[in-house]
Amino acid sequence: MAGAVSRRPKRPISAPSQASAPDESSEEIVRGSRASQHGKKVSRGKAAADWMSMLVTLLFATWLIFRYQTEILPSPLSEKAAGVRGFSEERAYRHVAALSSLGPHPIRSDALGHAIQYVIDQVTEVRDTANSEVEVEVDYFHARPGATQLTGGLFKGKSLVYSGLKHVVVRLHPKYEDSALENAILISSHIDTVITAPGAGDCSSCVGVLLELVRALSHWGQGFKHSIIFLFNTGEEEGLIGAHSFMTQHPWRGTIRAAVDLEASGIGGKHWLFQGGPDAWLIETYAKVAKWPATMMLAQDIFHSGLVKSATDFQIFREIAGLTGLDFAYMENSAVYHTKNDNLGLLRPGSLQHSGDNMLPFLREVATSSELASRNMTYPTGFSNMDVVYWDILGWYMVTYSQGFAKLLHHSIIFQLIILQRKTRPSQSQTKLLQWKALLKKFRKQYFGRQRDGCSRRRLCSGYYCLE
Ligand SMILES: [Zn+2]
Repeated sequence: MAGAVSRRPKRPISAPSQASAPDESSEEIVRGSRASQHGKKVSRGKAAADWMSMLVTLLFATWLIFRYQTEILPSPLSEKAAGVRGFSEERAYRHVAALSSLGPHPIRSDALGHAIQYVIDQVTEVRDTANSEVEVEVDYFHARPGATQLTGGLFKGKSLVYSGLKHVVVRLHPKYEDSALENAILISSHIDTVITAPGAGDCSSCVGVLLELVRALSHWGQGFKHSIIFLFNTGEEEGLIGAHSFMTQHPWRGTIRAAVDLEASGIGGKHWLFQGGPDAWLIETYAKVAKWPATMMLAQDIFHSGLVKSATDFQIFREIAGLTGLDFAYMENSAVYHTKNDNLGLLRPGSLQHSGDNMLPFLREVATSSELASRNMTYPTGFSNMDVVYWDILGWYMVTYSQGFAKLLHHSIIFQLIILQRKTRPSQSQTKLLQWKALLKKFRKQYFGRQRDGCSRRRLCSGYYCLE
């Protein structure tokens, strides 16, 4: 069997067709490259479409939330649907129509005299038709001449002198509860307008709400522990002098523990709570009972920064009287504010109902609460003392907490983010250390080679590696 040699079969020599192979493969490469480029383009297009659809969804969701937050109003109630104790937009609207039909009614005008007379007639009717257990006192108050100089806001440092101001003041309290006269909550708005505007929004809409509130509350009465004072003032547009004359002169002023101001910087929409405090209790009470809470705390910061050239009677209640309080304003159609276009046609249905549905349970709650009496104090003036944070969730629910808690919350979020970042990403010093380690490892591999068996530490001057 010698000589038997096994040979490996020769590999067939490829034909000269090899010359055409590079062309095919290059074509394949080109085709592959085109396919890959096409694939990249498709994936890039898909990613762009994904981003675009996400953006559109986000914008649509934002628009939907904004619309719901700002535009959805309650249905206006007719007289019959609201009943005698409920708030009816139908009734309130009649007051707004009557007052705005007088045209502009600034102070010292005949039209203002007619507007004041209209309010007196309405509250007199309320007094005559009130629940038998409710006392309704009507006071046509002629303020003495006076002067004011405010330390902040639009009228900062200006000396304003006034005389001849007249206000309609109504006090509502239970007839057989003597102590009810000792403590009161004030709710106020102004009858006068600027000379250029019929003032359907600013502020006949507020006066209409106030008149309907007096009427509705005059039929409740039972269970009230405190008084509710309604102030229909004149002179707001001339530098808040109406509220100033009331807070410095009226005999009932000493019983007021908290103040609410109704205002407008436009016409209609939601009646936004845009200033509140400094006492948290009043805001918390509002949050508890308001049917359609609508808050705009950002407006409070903007307002206090001086960017908005405007002021409200709330400043008098805070700065002059040192009261805690709430300030509400209609802000829709703000372009017509103080212009001839501030007319009834722009008042959206549901606007007055929104205000009334929130104010009626709020005033009842405060007037029956034992907490009001303990608010017998003067709060530090100035807006920096507004110590409450508040916001609402789509007009369904209102959240309130203190500035201190807000700071704690925000600091803790920042702190947690820092910790999270330190856990997920190495710090700068850690990155440097890792870079040094990698460099050292590279140096060892390059100069000392791989580890050998038997090499000793004495032979080597560096670690566990031996020279090649
Ligand atoms: Zn106003």
